[in-house]
Amino acid sequence: MSTPSLLILPGDGIGPEVMAEVRKIIDWYGTNQGLTFDVSEDLVGGAAYDAHGTPLHDDTMAKAQEVDAVLLGAVGGPKYDALDFSDKPERGLLRLRKEMDLYANLRPAQCFDALADFSSLKKDVISGLDVMIVRELTSGIYFGEPRGIIKEGNERVGVNTQRYTECEINRVARSAFELAMRRDKKLCSMDKANVMESGVLWREVVTEAAKNYPDVKLSHMYADAGAMQLTRWPKQFDVIVTDNLFGDLLSDLAAMLTGSLGMLPSASLGAPMANDRPKALYEPVHGAAPDIVGQGKANPIASILSFAMALRYSFDRGTDADRLETAIKAVLAQGLRTADLLVTEGVTPVSTTEMGDAIIGALDASL
Ligand code: NAD
Repeated sequence: MSTPSLLILPGDGIGPEVMAEVRKIIDWYGTNQGLTFDVSEDLVGGAAYDAHGTPLHDDTMAKAQEVDAVLLGAVGGPKYDALDFSDKPERGLLRLRKEMDLYANLRPAQCFDALADFSSLKKDVISGLDVMIVRELTSGIYFGEPRGIIKEGNERVGVNTQRYTECEINRVARSAFELAMRRDKKLCSMDKANVMESGVLWREVVTEAAKNYPDVKLSHMYADAGAMQLTRWPKQFDVIVTDNLFGDLLSDLAAMLTGSLGMLPSASLGAPMANDRPKALYEPVHGAAPDIVGQGKANPIASILSFAMALRYSFDRGTDADRLETAIKAVLAQGLRTADLLVTEGVTPVSTTEMGDAIIGALDASL
């Protein structure tokens, strides 16, 4: 089999700082586990605009289509705020997602025991939490037509359209079922079938898709009830699948149950390529954090956990992903904290590079 390929797009702000730590981890796997990647690096966002006058060069887009997985840092920053909408750094990221057709957005909400005090929920509610939210990313109300602000008589009317085809629902449902098969085999689909026809269709198509996954226990919940249950007793869930709008809200809600933005990874997956791997982009949930850039304060764990997701979902290296997550848990249990994490008595404040080095140390210790 050929060497798996990775395209790293560090981007702007703290993106290059956190991706430098990911590079160390990738190198560690090459040296110690015989897991070598063909790694290339390129520009995205403001960095690409500065170099090429566009937030994503066509050559970079072409490369992203060819590789086995893309790892992205972050884009944006005040320097680019005045640019035209089409030149803004975020357009680079949106173009990647759109042209790679990344329809399934995976957002884990996982509680690291050492950080359980971070949550606004009681420790026994949150401790040991491990939920995965699958959000449909390329359709629904954010894209449906007609849309706009129209004039009706003397009044302006804002219009957006929720629209889903069977195929769009089916493909994201399948991604969620596949994921559930690798986990606890429980899938909860959230919709508003009580008030929306698109929700009725969503429920029907997900139920139909379930026939191919008899081992997965499927349940349905209205999305508003789902929000309540996520805050009441989140551990009842394993995998949740929902549409673009509800997923946007529910994934932020679930993620924040567990702590800092600096800890949250994500994956966006598309259709399988010729080698059976899905098109894939892995990135932290956070942005470019211009307020802390260049100060060694950025937490690299969200990006490193995104690489762990790449190991698991693009390269079928679940054991290696477990090893990396265990190393991160060990470092947090030792009391090492970047500035975004609760720095209380008894913990050791560390910089971005020190956190990366400590995780490498924990990986070494795992051999
Ligand atoms: P942000 O996520 O960049 O920062 C929000 C707050 O969280 C800041 O105080 C920041 O210092 C802190 N923070 C974020 N990541 C951190 C980390 N890894 N370690 C420690 N602290 C961290 O969001 P924002 O301030 O709203 O946006 C800043 C810029 O980033 C904007 O230009 C925005 O458009 C862009 N942005 C990009 C993405 C992306 O690339 N996916 C996402 C969100 C925002």
